[in-house]
Amino acid sequence: MFRIARGNKEPHSAFAHRACDGRIPYGYIQDKEDRTKWLIDEEKAAVVREMFRLYTAGMGVAEICRNFTDRNIPVPQPESYKRSKMWAVSGVCPMLEEKAYIGIFTAQKTTTVSYKNHTRIYRPEDEWVVIENHHPPLIDMETWDTAQRMRGTRRKYNRRGEKAILSGLVRCYDCGATLSFCMQGAGDKTPNFICKTYRYADCNNNHKCTRHGIRVEDLEMIVLAQIQSTVDFAKSKERKFTEMVYRSQNTDTEKQIKKKTTELGKAERRINELDTIISRIYEDHVAVKLSDERFGKMLAGYEEEQKTLNTTALTRQTEIAELKAKTANLENFMRLVEKVGDITELTEELARMFIEKIVVHEAVYKEGTKRAKVSQQVDVYFAYIGKFNPNDSSDEFRGRARNGNLIYVN
Ligand SMILES: [Zn+2]
Repeated sequence: MFRIARGNKEPHSAFAHRACDGRIPYGYIQDKEDRTKWLIDEEKAAVVREMFRLYTAGMGVAEICRNFTDRNIPVPQPESYKRSKMWAVSGVCPMLEEKAYIGIFTAQKTTTVSYKNHTRIYRPEDEWVVIENHHPPLIDMETWDTAQRMRGTRRKYNRRGEKAILSGLVRCYDCGATLSFCMQGAGDKTPNFICKTYRYADCNNNHKCTRHGIRVEDLEMIVLAQIQSTVDFAKSKERKFTEMVYRSQNTDTEKQIKKKTTELGKAERRINELDTIISRIYEDHVAVKLSDERFGKMLAGYEEEQKTLNTTALTRQTEIAELKAKTANLENFMRLVEKVGDITELTEELARMFIEKIVVHEAVYKEGTKRAKVSQQVDVYFAYIGKFNPNDSSDEFRGRARNGNLIYVN
């Protein structure tokens, strides 16, 4: 339990106690005996749960608002306000991202510019007051994660009003950009995913990446097959599944740690090298071997390089620490597996429940052609467990596209 000591003499602490009794999110009420405690308001909690249920089932925010308004569900408003009967998108969106619904308390996210200027500004995230397990959650972790994946990836419509289920989840292997959903081919007939960096060439018509194109239909088929086989495998051979997840995650994490460590070493070596170079040009300058102007320019250049390298080194260090702390969250994944019944088709809900991201590699083309694919690799990253292939072999063909292309799933 967290409490801020009252009567602390630090300048701002007189107000710090407000951290515990500020606004209470819709769905909770304050415990009258202990004001820092929150209790569940069952009637409103049911509305919150319903909101998350509809949203993770693929209903849009505007649609949820209409639905709630039609059902005459009271709008969250303080009693003193004149009641509006219309649910608003601007009210629902923050609720779908409210961490309080998974039991996390956050406060002191904003402050004022100064005691004279009362404009509210955001504090950096590491200065927030954050307390986990502060109160009973309304939403389980898996539903919340699914909802966040849906918040972060907008499902866009194409010109014909069709929606790509996987839109927003697909990434380019080479540049890391999202693959965008578009219609291509004769008469704009085939829905494709292509690399966004490639799609929007600069004004000189230079493409900074290659196409990384894949048919939406092919990708959906692969992803569905991948989810089906993984879920089947997890259900039927739980023990082996656990073992394999840990093994594949470990090798994957190890590989990444190794790569980052090499990069870190390289940056550190160059930083040291620059130190030597800088001290050498100082000596040359003192010995009047270097003109003032030349010395100034060289020094600025080397210092700039060192500054960039220092930032890189710091980023790599944190990334390595994060990777080392990361472990497969199998429990959460198994709860997802228990939740789903028979999987027969790919839906938005299913995709966002199970898929973290899909990475598409550039296809291997038949020699001398630009469009005739020989094969293409696709990496499917699952939520909580990362990259997993039940067949444990990258040579395994998981899908054969309609036009006979072979697609590898790794
Ligand atoms: Zn790309």
